[in-house]
Amino acid sequence: MDEPNGTVIVIEDDAHISDLVAAYLRRDGFRVLQRPDGLAGVDSALAEPTRLVIVDVGLPGEIDGFEVCRRLRREGAVPIIMLTARDDEIDRVLGLELGADDYVTKPFSARELVARVHAILRRSEAAPVGTPTVLTLGDLEIDMGRREVRTPAGTIPLANREFDLLAFLVANKGLALSRQQLLNGVWGDGWYGDERTVDVHVRQLRKKLGPSLPLTTVWGVGYRLA
Ligand code: CA
Repeated sequence: MDEPNGTVIVIEDDAHISDLVAAYLRRDGFRVLQRPDGLAGVDSALAEPTRLVIVDVGLPGEIDGFEVCRRLRREGAVPIIMLTARDDEIDRVLGLELGADDYVTKPFSARELVARVHAILRRSEAAPVGTPTVLTLGDLEIDMGRREVRTPAGTIPLANREFDLLAFLVANKGLALSRQQLLNGVWGDGWYGDERTVDVHVRQLRKKLGPSLPLTTVWGVGYRLA
């Protein structure tokens, strides 16, 4: 079977979920290694050239999904998507702080998960580590390589999606963008979220960046960065 998209490692002890996710990924041209516990998963991720890791938070054995994430981050920048059984804010924040690139709450659609895999891979290829590009917007500096936003007062911590939203707005400066265009551009074509998701993230960006962010609401359309 042709596997042009490289290797994804799925670390999940629930065989039904693991098989389902693996089937979708294989159909999309990925080679998939399924591992039922954290240690086996980390071993495989470090031994194989791995494009992305999907890891469940709840795992049997010595290490859970958070510890998997921590260990993989210590070794490199492989993209990580975490799965959890609960819509738990603490879990989500901890996962993202440990360096996960995205977070999916069960029950999820395997199709949506695979769409996110593609979105993350596109994103990590758009801003490869080692070739940082710094965009400026007024007194903001947006460092695509380090995924950081700096103002004269210092670095402003942004969540992954907030950063991607800002980067997308900057790339499309001057255009009025609909919420659907923002969802497609930032969350990926396969993301079936509510358009209010965009508003929530815009509100966060405005709160964090204040008047440095020249973003206007375009009535009946969406948003435009001046
Ligand atoms: Ca599990």
